[in-house]
Amino acid sequence: MSDFAGYQQHIIELIYLVASALFILALKWMNTPATARRGILAGEIGMVLAIGGTPAVPQRTALSHAFGAFCVTLVGTAEFYLRTPNVQPFMMSVLCCEVILGGLTVTGSLMAAGKLQEVLPQRPITFKGQNIVNLSMLVIAIVIAVYLVHNPGATHLYPVMVGIALVFGIMLVIPIGGADMPTVISLLNSYAGLSAAAMGFVLNNKLLIIAGALDGSSGFILSVIMSKAMNRSFTNVLFGAFGQVAAAAAGAQETRPVKSASPDEAAGILAAASKVVIVPGYGMAVAQAQHKVRELYDSLTKRGIDVRFAIHPVAGRMPGHMNVLLAEADVPYDRLMEMDDINGDFPQTDVSLIIGANDVTNPAAKTDQSSPIYGMPVLDVERSHTVMVIKRSMNPGFAGIDNPLYYMDQTLMLFGDAKVFVSNIVKELSGGHG
Ligand code: NAP
Repeated sequence: MSDFAGYQQHIIELIYLVASALFILALKWMNTPATARRGILAGEIGMVLAIGGTPAVPQRTALSHAFGAFCVTLVGTAEFYLRTPNVQPFMMSVLCCEVILGGLTVTGSLMAAGKLQEVLPQRPITFKGQNIVNLSMLVIAIVIAVYLVHNPGATHLYPVMVGIALVFGIMLVIPIGGADMPTVISLLNSYAGLSAAAMGFVLNNKLLIIAGALDGSSGFILSVIMSKAMNRSFTNVLFGAFGQVAAAAAGAQETRPVKSASPDEAAGILAAASKVVIVPGYGMAVAQAQHKVRELYDSLTKRGIDVRFAIHPVAGRMPGHMNVLLAEADVPYDRLMEMDDINGDFPQTDVSLIIGANDVTNPAAKTDQSSPIYGMPVLDVERSHTVMVIKRSMNPGFAGIDNPLYYMDQTLMLFGDAKVFVSNIVKELSGGHG
């Protein structure tokens, strides 16, 4: 029987090793579109192996990181009460890291998800001295953790520490709004990974340590990349940006007139162009217009028009959102241009067709220092000869601010649902010239 147990243990260790290698390969392959499918498959196989080898905590990665972090916090709490008062200092410190990071990730992620789902108000909620209150909470939690490391029998302090971490998660996210949200979500992903890695130490589970560290570091790297894309430092996102976002969100919407056009006019302008850049955004996702956009691409390309897509790093509501949608509609990858690669080409572009994008095209990010998105790199669409914007109304986008692009001379507003409007343009193009 003990032989069988030893044999089984070896098999599980081997499964962990293969799963860990697959996770590393998955991350590497997902770096480029050409190998992304292989990367996803490797990740899926790794996950199946990991779940098969670790039935006790499959939730960690199967559910969202809010639930994963909840699981981590519960496991940490159970371990604490099982072991107290005989917990070694190292074990107690990783346990505290686990539950503090896990706790703040649970509520922080739920808050972030609630904000993105618009179940909670998207606007930043701020008050005077907020950063001091938040930092004090974190410091108190850490002081309790240090005390527990030296006095692991002080069980009455443990729930206080977890409670503070849970409240801190809420406090961390409520003041964040607008353009800073994606970075925070990615950072919370990183915290969830780090808390899981700490749980790996507590449970002496190497797979958890490796997978958690990978999750933690990839989330961190993504946060850094996104901060760069938005021209913000981490501290600015987490502490400095609060007041600015709150102040600018109050800005009133303009009432200046705009020029609008119908689908047949838009089709005529597109048909006369030789270089077109399509800028997709969140509205394309909402309308599920990607397949119609592909039809538009086909229809224009057939006429010999050069059509490319300008992809802003935070267009939509998650990193890679536009890439995923356009890939689903089989738009060729080599037609998708990253912001830095296409920005220089706008002056030679006849028509920039914006489909449900708003904040990522807002020139105020370059000129208006009071704007909450000031400093965020944006697509220089206003430098093209003609700009056409498909959206349903003059309502603002995610950051809640007006877009001066809509009032410029070269801009035409195409009011309507993205899928319906694009579909009508395609009809006009095929009816009129097909
Ligand atoms: P956006 O600024 O949110 O603007 C989307 C626009 O789409 C809106 O102005 C809306 O105008 C229009 N729209 C909505 N439904 C539509 C429909 N059915 N048909 C046509 N238009 C529709 O989007 P974005 O330019 O893609 O910018 C993304 C924003 O989200 C940034 O502020 C970014 O920081 C933030 N964000 C990004 C991520 C990420 O990781 N990518 C995550 C969270 C937040 P109407 O209501 O007038 O139609």
